[in-house]
Amino acid sequence: MKKKAKAIVMFSGGLDSLLAVKILQEQNIKVIAIHFISSFFPKSARDSAKKLKVKLIEVDLSDDKHIKEFIEMTRKPRFGYGSAVNPCIDCKIMMLKKAKQVMEKEKADFIATGEVLNERPMSQTREKLGLIELESNLQSKLLRPLSARLLDETEVEKKGFVDRKKLLAMQGRRRIQQMELAKKYKLKYPTPAGGCLLCEKEIAIKMRDLLRYKQNIKKRDLELLKIGRHFRVDKSKIIVGRNEQENKKIIELANNDWLFEPKDVPGPTTLLEHPTQQVIKIAAALTVSFSDAKDKKNVEINYGRNLNKSIKINPLNKKEVEKYKVK
Ligand code: SF4
Repeated sequence: MKKKAKAIVMFSGGLDSLLAVKILQEQNIKVIAIHFISSFFPKSARDSAKKLKVKLIEVDLSDDKHIKEFIEMTRKPRFGYGSAVNPCIDCKIMMLKKAKQVMEKEKADFIATGEVLNERPMSQTREKLGLIELESNLQSKLLRPLSARLLDETEVEKKGFVDRKKLLAMQGRRRIQQMELAKKYKLKYPTPAGGCLLCEKEIAIKMRDLLRYKQNIKKRDLELLKIGRHFRVDKSKIIVGRNEQENKKIIELANNDWLFEPKDVPGPTTLLEHPTQQVIKIAAALTVSFSDAKDKKNVEINYGRNLNKSIKINPLNKKEVEKYKVK
């Protein structure tokens, strides 16, 4: 090996990324971890970085500018979706391009990821790993230390920044080898991978509805995806809180939206975007349907921007509730 190299490691804080750091550190490579923060993958990597004694650069993608970029990508991913509404290949390319800028700024020699060959069918096959490398313009600068010995030799190895013989040959979905290695390194790690909300079925249903009906999606809209039961009546969206915590969050996130709450019985807080005469009645009735008065008639519901109006209404039956549910 020629000189002490410097690497940027894509660092989710999950086991694979921890191992990628460890493997490089063992080769005496100076590692900087880069972690992306977004409304969709909100996990912090600070604790993991601290344990590895590695410098951490956090890139915040949760502001409106980055949300716009992310939403455009999610609306029409060039390389399709995974099992839910996760545009993983496009997403990885986007994050690697951002990491490339950090690499240049930090004068690092290459970027490494914790990707493992064939661990994920959508984005970690040999072909997809090659595609991601090509599309992110990192042909000579991208290393996957956990599977490197099963992949073509990279420029990073050829130039002697790392010793290929000391890199690994992991592949497949079973994580036994990773766990054994974690034991060897005495690494404590969070529950396996994932954590991205776009991979969750329930969120995906709500997300597809949001993409279909809303052009200018903001952070608040994404936060609302994580809570409540969602209903759709044309342009109007109704979100019914499922518990005390969600009710509070709904009040916190309501902008100019209308709120609904039962006046005299315990029940949900409901949010309504785009109120119309017809939908106000449906939102009020849904509020009754999920309250302690769901079997009663003429239940009084407070509503309005400041809950300063009131209406007496019957609950919807199960069939009606199902009809409006986002699916
Ligand atoms: S799982 Fe989520 S964060 Fe990870 S690559 Fe896919 S879309 Fe991006």
